[in-house]
Amino acid sequence: PARTRFAPSPTGYLHIGSLRTALFNYLLAKSTGGQFLLRIEDTDQKRTIPDAESRLFRDLRWAGLQWDEGPEVGGPYGPYKQSERSQLYHDHAHKLLDNGHAYRCFCSADRLNALAQQRHKVGIATDYDRTCANIPKEESDDRASKGESHVIRLKVPDRSPAYEDLVYGLFKPLKRRGHVTESAYEDPILLKSDGLPTYHLANVVDDHHMKITHVIRGSEWMPSTPKHITLYNAFGWTPPQFGHVGLLVDKDGSKLSKRNFDTGVDGYREMEIFPETLTNFAALLGWSHTEKSDVMDLAQLVEKFTLKFTKGNTMVTFGKLHFLQRKHAIKRVDAGGKGLQEMVDNVVKILKDEDSPYKGWEKFIGTSSIEDYVQRIIVADNANYTNANEFLYRNRYLFMPLRPTASLLSEYADSDMPAAAKDLALVEDWSQIPLLSALHNMVEARGGKRVGAKEVYHYLRRALMDRDEGIRLYEIMLILGREETLARLGVSEV
Ligand code: GLU
Repeated sequence: PARTRFAPSPTGYLHIGSLRTALFNYLLAKSTGGQFLLRIEDTDQKRTIPDAESRLFRDLRWAGLQWDEGPEVGGPYGPYKQSERSQLYHDHAHKLLDNGHAYRCFCSADRLNALAQQRHKVGIATDYDRTCANIPKEESDDRASKGESHVIRLKVPDRSPAYEDLVYGLFKPLKRRGHVTESAYEDPILLKSDGLPTYHLANVVDDHHMKITHVIRGSEWMPSTPKHITLYNAFGWTPPQFGHVGLLVDKDGSKLSKRNFDTGVDGYREMEIFPETLTNFAALLGWSHTEKSDVMDLAQLVEKFTLKFTKGNTMVTFGKLHFLQRKHAIKRVDAGGKGLQEMVDNVVKILKDEDSPYKGWEKFIGTSSIEDYVQRIIVADNANYTNANEFLYRNRYLFMPLRPTASLLSEYADSDMPAAAKDLALVEDWSQIPLLSALHNMVEARGGKRVGAKEVYHYLRRALMDRDEGIRLYEIMLILGREETLARLGVSEV
């Protein structure tokens, strides 16, 4: 069983890219019978946004990604918020001081800046010259106890450790140009001068203490991984397995951002994208499966999940999102439960709104309740549901009056189709079979399938709904009822 975690910094809201990271970790945990943890990495208090945390919780839960351990639910390795674990990081930084894997650095910001500039000028890639690595331990302890400002740095080995990435395979960090004797990596800061940890230290200490077995994260973190492995080695711990998934990019190859559709999860919720649509969409961004169909709800994703990710960046196009939404609408209708009820409720809400553009819909629902009427239409047009507004609009003439349009009348001016429609008035038993047979007879009388059907169906659809596709014709007639159908066809009752 895998123990995984999603470790967001509360510096923004949950976007499609971070949802995907959370989802992959969730799926790995659930598909192996393990646990999915949530940890808030708020070590950078300056960048923390006040309501980011509560929005994260809400968005994750909405998407169905309930964590087994973490804020609000607790667990054996808490607290799950880094700002409440400062002592642990402090103690661990000092462990590394004691075992020689870390050292205090007393250099001032001014010195470091000047040094970095100078080193870059002569082509040295790392900023720091390790001056403080050579300060004897007693002197270092003494200066610290006198209150001299300092940070604690990790002393990285000359060769950065290679590791086996779950996605990329053996990852050997390249030595930076011109560096044979110096480490490929800067000695990263572990503890800042204010005593608070950096991301590297807190992340590694927590993953170890929370017994994380697998870390799936975005490839932007890949350069950090050798530093993390070094830290695990310095502590004498076994690192978890790491897998890095590519960045999400738009069709021009640029990173997704607000400007190009990477709206927050709450934005998708407001668009009434179903949570199962969004998790399905996110899962397909970089994960590959061998199923026949791409359409999977969260439970199916758990069932089918394997660690098969594509290397490199993933291009995001939103056509797929809308395709998936329609497919999940069909699944909701087929399942007939809460999901369908929610769709019905959203449509009814618009109808009942004070400013509803569909005023007068009561006249069309006959003896059924509005909920039943709407549900019937959703079931009949299930393949075309995207959201309540669009759905209502495409089926608006089932809620508002329609009389033959001028363009329809002129199109059929020389045709006897309007007259032929009178045959429908002969149907006494207004139900599926008689209606289908009346339609069949009309088609036969007008040249059969190839010629007749086109005319009959086109005219009737236009006259009844003013659209060429969607709900089946006999079903439209059933929904509208005999009286309204005949009225729309300009046929008086016989
Ligand atoms: N706090 C980091 C973030 O915001 C976590 C990165 C990681 O998964 O190690 O993405």
